[in-house]
Amino acid sequence: MCIMEYDVVIIGGGAAGMMAAALASESSLRVALIEKNSQCGRKLLLTGKGRCNITNTRPWDEFKEHVHPDSGFLRPAFMAFSNADTVAFFRKLGLPVTEERGMRIFPSSGKSSDVRDVLVSRISAATNVDIRCDSEAVSVLRSSSSHFVVEVLHSGDRMNMLELVTDSVIVATGGLSYPATGSTGDGYRFAREMGHTVVDTSPSLTALVPTRYNFALAGLTLRNVSLQLLVDGGVVQDEFGELTFTNDGLEGALGFRVSRRAVKALDEGKKVEVLMDLKPAVTRAELKARIEREYRPGLSLQRFLEKFLPVQAVRPFMDSDPSLTVQNLPVRLKSWKFLIKGYVDYRRAVVTAGGVSLREVSRKTMESKLVPGLYFAGEVLDLDADTGGYNLQIAFSTAAAAVRSIVSRSILR
Ligand SMILES: Cc1cc2nc3c(=O)[nH]c(=O)nc-3n(C[C@H](O)[C@H](O)[C@H](O)COP(=O)(O)OP(=O)(O)OC[C@H]3O[C@@H](n4cnc5c(N)ncnc54)[C@H](O)[C@@H]3O)c2cc1C
Repeated sequence: MCIMEYDVVIIGGGAAGMMAAALASESSLRVALIEKNSQCGRKLLLTGKGRCNITNTRPWDEFKEHVHPDSGFLRPAFMAFSNADTVAFFRKLGLPVTEERGMRIFPSSGKSSDVRDVLVSRISAATNVDIRCDSEAVSVLRSSSSHFVVEVLHSGDRMNMLELVTDSVIVATGGLSYPATGSTGDGYRFAREMGHTVVDTSPSLTALVPTRYNFALAGLTLRNVSLQLLVDGGVVQDEFGELTFTNDGLEGALGFRVSRRAVKALDEGKKVEVLMDLKPAVTRAELKARIEREYRPGLSLQRFLEKFLPVQAVRPFMDSDPSLTVQNLPVRLKSWKFLIKGYVDYRRAVVTAGGVSLREVSRKTMESKLVPGLYFAGEVLDLDADTGGYNLQIAFSTAAAAVRSIVSRSILR
């Protein structure tokens, strides 16, 4: 058994852990970054479909609308390390970034690997940071009132255990989504073992699976559609934008946006439906007038529908409603209904909703209110957000808050 001492041990070399290590490298703290994979940032490589949507430049008043369940918790950390700070941070590391539609920031190269690489380079260049890959934290123990021992298993070898003794631990182990990237919920166990409450988790930003799903729709994206989420017959969410049909079901910005509520309702055994307005820009009366103007007797319904829908959507739309006629088309085009029977689990959910209860964590510092010196950053917290760069900003802001607190405490000592 090898014993080593550090000022701070960061568990998890994902977005939050790497940002924490990069910021801590600017201090004189001795830092260990523990990552169970052979390399840091495996999930980061997958982000933004391989392009990494680093953050979103919306002002806080708009940004907060995309953060769940308590954006107020994030506010102090966001104000201290904001989306503008994230952009400045990456530019300083030599990564040019570009703003795209929806105020989303991407690396100008379009490569998520560049984001990961600049972070890894920054940390690797620091003499006060030990990056320990192939190293899995298996337990976090309080050894005295001011010390922790983090037990680390190297390369899965029980004979090769390390004990890291430290004053401060940042748990940045992520949630449960895409477990193949390393986020397997270990941080929830560490939190529970330290007396923390972990709010029930569920997959979020995940595909919704309709009953009798027509796979002929897979690959189709519908732009500028309205979508309502109905739970037990009542509308609980109303969204506008882009919906993508995949082999799994309803995805894309719209599908993901309603998935958080839909998953919770399904877990509670409620009836969940999605109602799509394919022509939200016109009223039913206007649509009716257009149909009456343009329909020629003898024209098949299928050919006529091609004026209103992408060809790929026409047959599935007709098959979903055997009573479809030219007369009821204005109603049907504005109310295509899908009964949702399930959702895709953590294996392909973009984020995890739920996590370490925010009530037991300081919103200014991310320090545990129960165990001084224990910090949480990133998706392990009960914080998640919509797609659009918000989740990575949560990881960066919370990591920065934890490091700031640890550095200022070390200066006072
Ligand atoms: C496909 C996909 C696309 C996404 N795209 C975007 C996007 O474009 N923009 C955006 O804002 N968000 C995106 N997200 C969400 C975003 O990636 C996550 O919210 C973010 O990575 C969370 O950061 P984290 O550091 O908390 O956790 P993670 O990035 O999951 O990192 C946790 C790390 O901890 C390590 N670890 C876990 N347990 C241990 C242990 N016991 N010992 C040692 N190491 C451990 C893991 O191996 C992992 O490397 C996407 C997510 C997915 C899955």
